[in-house]
Amino acid sequence: MTQAFSFAALARQIPLWAADLGFAQAGISDTDLRVQREPLQQWLDKGYHGDMGWLAENLDKRLQPEQMVDGAVRVISVRMNYLPGDTRQIQILKDPNKAYVSRYALGRDYHKLIRKRLAQLAEQIRLAAEPMMPVNQRPFVDSAPVLERPLAVKAGLGWTGKHTLVINREAGSWFFLGEILTNIPLPTNTEIAADECGTCSACLKVCPTDAFPRPYELDARRCISYLTIEHKGAIPEEFRAPMGNRVFGCDDCQAICPWNKFAHISTEADFQPRHGLADSDLLTLFLWDEATFLRNTEGSAIRRIGYERWLRNLAVGLGNAPSDAAIIATLEQRRDTATELVREHIDWALHQQRNPAPRRRRKLKRSESDGD
Ligand code: SF4
Repeated sequence: MTQAFSFAALARQIPLWAADLGFAQAGISDTDLRVQREPLQQWLDKGYHGDMGWLAENLDKRLQPEQMVDGAVRVISVRMNYLPGDTRQIQILKDPNKAYVSRYALGRDYHKLIRKRLAQLAEQIRLAAEPMMPVNQRPFVDSAPVLERPLAVKAGLGWTGKHTLVINREAGSWFFLGEILTNIPLPTNTEIAADECGTCSACLKVCPTDAFPRPYELDARRCISYLTIEHKGAIPEEFRAPMGNRVFGCDDCQAICPWNKFAHISTEADFQPRHGLADSDLLTLFLWDEATFLRNTEGSAIRRIGYERWLRNLAVGLGNAPSDAAIIATLEQRRDTATELVREHIDWALHQQRNPAPRRRRKLKRSESDGD
């Protein structure tokens, strides 16, 4: 039997249902994002979005989420912790023969799991609200032009850190976000007004490629996550040495953040590392043929970059590894059958491997490259 709810009672109930579905928190906001227009437009005007042209499209929809769901007046934002247990994060980063894969990508692709749970949550909400009004709503997981971080902040899930990610006082920043746009006029949560970063700037300083021109602003073109995942072409040479062994994404700005001492380990089976990706040698991964790549990345976020970009990234990692005869032999062997893109990165890696003496992995400063 469907329980009768007032809107206020429903708003109190939603976080409880969300918790039953594995979400760490749920909050409710209105859809007014007008204050985001100017900073977003300025960020786009500077070209900081790089190849991600879709970020410049549908700007009105991004800023007026109600355009995506008829009559939508509220956004229910949820977050789900994803940090797997012991992933030897720091040890892997320090071992130049290992491949560092961003912690969010070690297990199954989160979209499917969160979409399914959000659909279940939306259905519970619909059943509860329909005695009061016709319901129109839709769940989103990183799949439509939704400005999920500002919406999460409006819903009280955290504040925007200087690294531009949402931070929660009790949980740090290792979580995924999802949203339900709804026409139900629920009471809203209070936005967290405080910026709890204070005088800290650890994330800005630690970034290997100096991707933050200033606090709260990311130049994606310099971000290792962008370069290894979103960017389709050759990785600009200036960023290759600072990339070190990061072959899919980068977590440095989150890993250094003091608030992440409060992070919660995820118990979701889907987010646990698969195929040894939390602790693999660069050379082992580089030796995967395409069939092995496709098999081992089935259902993983890594699959979306494709085999060619996977090899491109690994070639950079191998170029940064200590000089080694086995690495040189494998790079040489792969070179002849490689695509033009991969071959160019293999050639760079071979040069690095054969001329190791004066070379040291280092942090890049904006002033040493194109700047902004
Ligand atoms: S590292 Fe410091 S400045 Fe950066 S997000 Fe965390 S608290 Fe804020």
